[in-house]
Amino acid sequence: MDLKQYITIVPDFPKPGILFKDITTLMDNGKAYKYATDQIVQYAREKQIDIVVGPEARGFIIGCPVAYALGVGFAPVRKEGKLPREVVRVEYGLEYGTDVLTMHKDAIKPGQRVLITDDLLATGGTMRATIDLVEQLGGVVAGLAFLIELTELGGRKKLEGYDILALMQF
Ligand code: 5GP
Repeated sequence: MDLKQYITIVPDFPKPGILFKDITTLMDNGKAYKYATDQIVQYAREKQIDIVVGPEARGFIIGCPVAYALGVGFAPVRKEGKLPREVVRVEYGLEYGTDVLTMHKDAIKPGQRVLITDDLLATGGTMRATIDLVEQLGGVVAGLAFLIELTELGGRKKLEGYDILALMQF
């Protein structure tokens, strides 16, 4: 299936000059969403995944159906102040300023094999921060799965040494 036909490119969102890749037109098509999910599930089966992790909010959309299909758990990565119990945290750089991501301290057991999911790889900053959280907890990052990779932004370089699945490249 050619998944690219289900991605809508929105010019000047959220800022002038940005060509936003809107994945909601893939998600609201049952066949396309299932096909994309199945591709990631197949990849995860080869990697013997114990738990899936994804950053809010679109990482949940990709990761939760994969976790369900595998019969494993899902652990959310959230912005600071959203998780109710003790967390690990990581600060990471944005274009302007910094942001913080957190995970519950007991979300992953040391040695568990983790698949991290997100909708899109751009500069790699979000994924790099998520990897740091998983590794702080002793998790083994066995694979990274995205719907979309924006190749010109060089995110792959920031993720060197990790195994990456990207279903589409722009
Ligand atoms: P990065 O941290 O790799 O620079 O940016 C990736 C993060 O920003 C992902 O969590 C993704 O959801 C969001 N993102 C950046 N650009 C786009 C886009 O064009 N479309 C979508 N759907 N998400 C984007």
